[in-house]
Amino acid sequence: MGATAIVTRFAPSPTGFLHLGHAHAALTAWRAAREAGGRFLLRIEDLDPTRCRPDFTDAILEDLAWLGLDWDGAVRVQSRHLPAYRGALDRLAARGLLYPCFCTRADIAREIAASAAAPHGPDGPLYPGTCRRLPPAQRAARIAAGEAHALRLDMAAAIATLDAPLTFREHGTRRACDPARFGDAVLARKDIPASYHLCVTHDDALQGVTLVTRGTDLLPATDLHRLLQALMGWAEPDYAHHTLLTDATGRRLAKRDRADTLRALRDAGISPAEARRRAET
Ligand code: GLU
Repeated sequence: MGATAIVTRFAPSPTGFLHLGHAHAALTAWRAAREAGGRFLLRIEDLDPTRCRPDFTDAILEDLAWLGLDWDGAVRVQSRHLPAYRGALDRLAARGLLYPCFCTRADIAREIAASAAAPHGPDGPLYPGTCRRLPPAQRAARIAAGEAHALRLDMAAAIATLDAPLTFREHGTRRACDPARFGDAVLARKDIPASYHLCVTHDDALQGVTLVTRGTDLLPATDLHRLLQALMGWAEPDYAHHTLLTDATGRRLAKRDRADTLRALRDAGISPAEARRRAET
């Protein structure tokens, strides 16, 4: 295997049992690696302790093995690597690209309701920038008092560091990125000193992922991930966004739909080969 061999990954969050949609995503990444003689990694994105459960992690490993998928190397479990994410945040903070945000959801909702415009981004209404404008002394006093805060990316400052407009590469074509549509994105939550956007990008770089395959629901996120890669000097992977599986009524499969979980199929006597066929059609 050469240094440029393809590395893909499946990175589920253990918030429920895997369903056929996950199997589709996992198989897409696994096939891309196996057909090219590359590596397929498994990463558990379990940062949110209110939604993730260790028994779902165990179930993910079991269900993937049942499906006939094998992965290379150790499974990376994100909740065990918080200091690494802290290190990335420190580097951004040292460049003045992060600021603490003390706002509650209610504060933000009130501020948005009072303003004339309420632009929306892929993750919801854009943050109105309240804490970006806090005087430094007030900011320092609130941190010293131990007030809970998130860390937000100063989007305008981050974009100002770029020397060329951002793009991402998909199937050999360059497509324009618009990270500004996220506004001042949260990179470290109040309750967890990290965030999905930061950790997924950090880990793809750390693990040498060369091809990120994921659903089109995450297409907008790629714009922000490319910005983080540029800011941190992380290598740029290729991207391949696949369509999402839907049920007979055209609705996207979700973890709440018990009937489509791999577990339910297995319990109903469906073979792994048949489950793979359903996941890939
Ligand atoms: N952990 C994310 C999810 O389960 C996917 C990670 C990614 O491909 O960016 O939705």
